[in-house]
Formats: sequence, C-alpha cells, structure tokens
Amino acid sequence: MKIALPKEIKSHEYRVALTPSGVGELVARGHRVMVERGAGAGAGFSDAEYGDAGAELTVEVDRLWSEAELIVKVKEPQRGEVARLGAGQMLFTYLHLAADRALTEGLLESRATSIAYETVTDAEGRLPLLAPMSRVAGRMSVQAGAHSLERAQGGAGILISGVPGVAPAKVTVIGAGVVGENAARMALGLGAEVSVFDLSLARLEALDQRYGGRLRTVYSTQDALAAAIRESDLVIGAVLVPGAAAPKLVKRAQLAQMRPGSVLVDVAIDQGGCFETSRPTTHDNPTYLVDGINHYCVANMPGAVPRTATQALTSATLPYVAALADKGWRRAFRENGNFLSGLNAHEGVLTRGEIAAAFGLEA
Ligand code: NAD
Repeated sequence: MKIALPKEIKSHEYRVALTPSGVGELVARGHRVMVERGAGAGAGFSDAEYGDAGAELTVEVDRLWSEAELIVKVKEPQRGEVARLGAGQMLFTYLHLAADRALTEGLLESRATSIAYETVTDAEGRLPLLAPMSRVAGRMSVQAGAHSLERAQGGAGILISGVPGVAPAKVTVIGAGVVGENAARMALGLGAEVSVFDLSLARLEALDQRYGGRLRTVYSTQDALAAAIRESDLVIGAVLVPGAAAPKLVKRAQLAQMRPGSVLVDVAIDQGGCFETSRPTTHDNPTYLVDGINHYCVANMPGAVPRTATQALTSATLPYVAALADKGWRRAFRENGNFLSGLNAHEGVLTRGEIAAAFGLEA
C-alpha cells in the first residue's frame, strides 16, 4: 500500500506520526512509505534516518497526498489538508470531530475514510491510542509543577523532594486514571508525600495494590478534597468525565486558604479545566497567578516533548497502521471490532452517533 507521512502544519506541532523505525517496519512488510522532507525535524528525526529506513522522501506535497492510499498524521487535518483528501483514501490521525463542525463537514465532503486515534478502543473498553499522550502529560505534570514551585517562576520556593531534615512537598492528584497514575508515580519517584483522589474505588484499589503504603488513596468527597487542597504545595487536576466538560473541583475561594506560591497544574484543561480559575495557556507562557496561586494550564502538554511523544504515539499506533496497510480497512475492521470503533466517517457518512448528535446530523 502507498502510505503518506506529511509534515504537521498546525502551529507549534512538532510531533510526527511515525518514527523512522516505524517506517522501517512498514517498508519491511512491502509497503511504500512517502515522507515529506522535514516531517520529523521537530521531533529530532532527520530525513536521512527516514531514507535509511526505506522511505521515499519528497517535497512534492501535492503528489504525496494525491498518490497516498493511507495518510497517517498526528493532528486533525487543517483546512488546506482537508481539501487534498478524496474518496478512496484513508486518513488515520487524532480528529476530535465533536469539537469541530467545519472539519466534520469537510471530511464528509471529501468522502475519505476517516479513522480517529481517540475513538479506537481495546478489549477492556479503554482508549489505547489516547493513553500514550495521557501518560506523557501525567508524567510531565509533576515536572511542570516542580518547576512552577521555584521562586523565580512565581512559586513558593519549595523543592518537591525536600532534603534530609526538611519534609518533602505535599502533592494532591485529583483523578486516578492514566494521567493521575502517571503523575502520582512521578511525584512518588521524586520523594513527595502523595495523595490521589477518585470517585472510582476500583481505580483507587488498583493504585493501592500497585504502590502500597507509599501512596495515599482517598475517595473524592468535597470535604476530603478541600482539606487536602489547603495543605498541598502542588495540586494536579487529572479528572475526566467522558463526553462532558471537566467538573470544577477547586473554587476560587479555596485559593485564599492555600500557601501563597502553591501550584495548580490543570491537565484537564483540554476539557475546560477542573479548577474554577483555570484558563488555557501555551508553552511560551505556561503559568499565571490568581490570588497568589501559580496556575499551569497548557492544553497540549506533550507538545513540549515531541521526541518522546512521537515515540510513545508510534509504539501505540504502529500495529493499527500495519493492519490497515496489510489488510485494507474492510478486513482490518472485520477482524478487530475495537478497531472499527475508530471509524468516524466513510464515503460522506458519519459513523459515530455521538459526533452526529453533537451537530444534529444523521449517523
Ligand atoms: P481517565 O479516564 O484515564 O481518568 C480520569 C479519572 O477521573 C477517572 O478515574 C475518573 O473516575 C476520575 N474522575 C472523574 N470525575 C472525578 C471527580 N469528580 N473526582 C475525582 N475523580 C474523578 O482520563 P485520563 O486519560 O487520565 O485524562 C485525564 C484528563 O487529562 C482528560 O481531561 C484528558 O483530556 C486530559 N489530558 C490532557 C492533556 C494535556 O496536554 N493537557 C494530555 C492528555 C490528557
């Protein structure tokens, strides 16, 4: 199959959909992979590495898109990219269609087969192609929080680990899902005193079994959470209510009860944020103060570590890309019903009810 790997054109997007070794796997299976020159530069993968892996490098973007049977990307296609898509082509990328009517209509008009990373499920109903980015964001949240606690960054001037004779920082993680577990793991690794809150006892139990007495797990009531927030040096928001905006779990009035310079990292900002005072920020200017409390609310945290994020993404997506390339979408979906849940639009028809419902369209 002819596979295209375009350079991402969305601003500040430095990831690429396949690493050179991912391309090498596809070439070894007999596929032709066309890579736009410079596609991997932002993630530190050179054209020479793609060439050595067997890719055909090109600067002819028109040809790359028009000849491809399968286009693999990271971000949703931008307007000019949607215009290049046509019937009979497969697009495999993050789409988040329910948030973007114009993109949804554009993909329907193109009649392409659009498959979204974020709606592919696994046997347990989890989202295996969303999880890699949640792992990256969860681990980064502690790194970002530790930096934001430094005095020069507006923080309280606290070293997370403490030192012998000085107590470590208190870290509260709200949400014990993929982001929350990875945040807790990093904070424990730095030696912090860590509490994790969730409404799911099953999640708390899983973490309790994994981390034992080193991690405090707490059922999330308003009272218990309010008490923890008052005491915390760093609070990480990592909740998700599927299909809904994040609940506002920390109110503005609570900030006055925290030590000035304490830090809130709102990873759930891409779903509206779980602190009342959160607003999206960028890597260029990631933090701001409200009532003396330092807020970090970057909506695309993995964007800061494109190399790690690209490697994490490729190791999750490659088996699916290979299945599409080896078998075509019909057989790949027939043999794996969970993969079929990734299909969002095909030949001008929306194939997922919740996206259609978001726009009052028919699925
Ligand atoms: P997840 O589904 O694995 O975990 C979410 C957890 O939140 C669940 O365990 C759920 O029970 C819990 N929860 C829901 N409501 C709660 C409440 N009121 N109190 C306590 N816990 C509650 O989701 P995830 O993959 O960990 O993602 C978490 C959030 O991080 C999502 O909003 C996701 O979009 C976001 N995210 C952001 C970035 C970024 O760059 N900012 C990157 C990746 C993920």
